[in-house]
This record gives sequence, C-alpha cells and structure tokens, in this order.
Amino acid sequence: MDFDSVEQRLQDMTCPVCKNSAGFVIPRDPRITDGEYKAFCKGCRYSMPIHMDIENYLRNQPDVTFWVKGMRCPHCLKTGGTLDFWVQPSVRYALYFITCTSCRQTFSETSALEAYE
Ligand SMILES: [Zn+2]
Ligand SMILES: [Zn+2]
Repeated sequence: MDFDSVEQRLQDMTCPVCKNSAGFVIPRDPRITDGEYKAFCKGCRYSMPIHMDIENYLRNQPDVTFWVKGMRCPHCLKTGGTLDFWVQPSVRYALYFITCTSCRQTFSETSALEAYE
C-alpha cells in the first residue's frame, strides 16, 4: 500500500480524541524500515501507531490471518478478505483495513485488543 491510498482510506475514520474526521497524515520518514509509522490527526495532531508491514505482522499473528479470512464483506456479503494495514487509535482497540477478495471493495473492522492480551 502506498501512503496516498492509506491516507485516503483513513479519511473514513473518526479521530478518537477530537471526534472529527478531518483525516490523518503520515509523515514519510525514510528512517523507518519496519513499516511502523505514525498517523497524525489533521484536526488536533493526535498521533496513533499505524502498521503497514502486514506481511511481517501476519507471520507472527496466525489468529489475525484466520479472523480476516472469516470476515464478511459488507458490500457483497461474501466471506474473505486481505488485510491492507491496521491502526491503533487507542490502547483499547485496533482498526483493521481490509479489501474484499471477491468484489475488491474496502471496509474496516474494529477489534478489541484485550482479546490478544
Ligand atoms: Zn483529532
Ligand atoms: Zn465484497
């Protein structure tokens, strides 16, 4: 995923702090090599971790791979998707951005992080 499309998709989400959906911006830091970036709210400058090296992430998270495969697409109602990236708006939950394998439309799913602790 390139930064522009990720930022575009982040426009769908509401900032957990200022409750606006002004969008988020991801500074292109060339020193970051592991895909662990930060996204900043354009409204209040709140920052949250964004994980873009999904291949590497899923290698250590078989549960998440399984969960995403069983996901039902809200557009075509078929099951199965691929994870594009995920963000962590607060310590309590994560938001996963998924592309449907059948219709190629995108959607997002919230997951409580307690389940993985
Ligand atoms: Zn904000
Ligand atoms: Zn679909």
